[in-house]
Amino acid sequence: MINRRPCLFLDRDGVINRDIAYAHKAEDITFVPGIFRLCRIFQRAGYRIVIVTNQSGIARGYYSEADFQHLTQWMHNEFRRRGITITATYHCPHHPNISGPCHCRKPAPGMLQRATKRYQLDVRQSVMIGDKTSDMQAAKAAGIKHRILISPEPLFRHSKMATMCVQYHRQIFARLKGIIDTRQLKG
Ligand SMILES: [Mg+2]
Ligand SMILES: [Zn+2]
Repeated sequence: MINRRPCLFLDRDGVINRDIAYAHKAEDITFVPGIFRLCRIFQRAGYRIVIVTNQSGIARGYYSEADFQHLTQWMHNEFRRRGITITATYHCPHHPNISGPCHCRKPAPGMLQRATKRYQLDVRQSVMIGDKTSDMQAAKAAGIKHRILISPEPLFRHSKMATMCVQYHRQIFARLKGIIDTRQLKG
């Protein structure tokens, strides 16, 4: 029998780094306080960590696929330096008005489903953290149980798609009980 691991799915812009429009180089990245600590907690509990990010800036021609991959490698390294392994980053390079409809652009669940299949993830025990309703919709469509929306906008704090709404990353720490499968906890 396959031992399926749960996964912490992370949106990138607005969750890992401050969302400036169309970030595509290391200088554009300011890490959001609390993100590394959060990842460490989930990693210690046996979760994989996968990033799922819409990158329509590629379809729009603002930056190239190579620029994106370069930034992704840099970012994986920044995590690794802090003791965190990112299993993979999935991205959607499309925009419906430019490249037509696709199955990967959130709110579609395509990226999450591909990762789930590839890494044999336990989707029922998995967690998605995003800063947009479309992140929550993608997670719900993929069958992800815990859907955390981080948004300073009071409007979004009531997203029906989310199972938890917070304004800041640090508010998540106090509420991890009931999310992290304690059976997975190692030493
Ligand atoms: Mg975002
Ligand atoms: Zn796509």
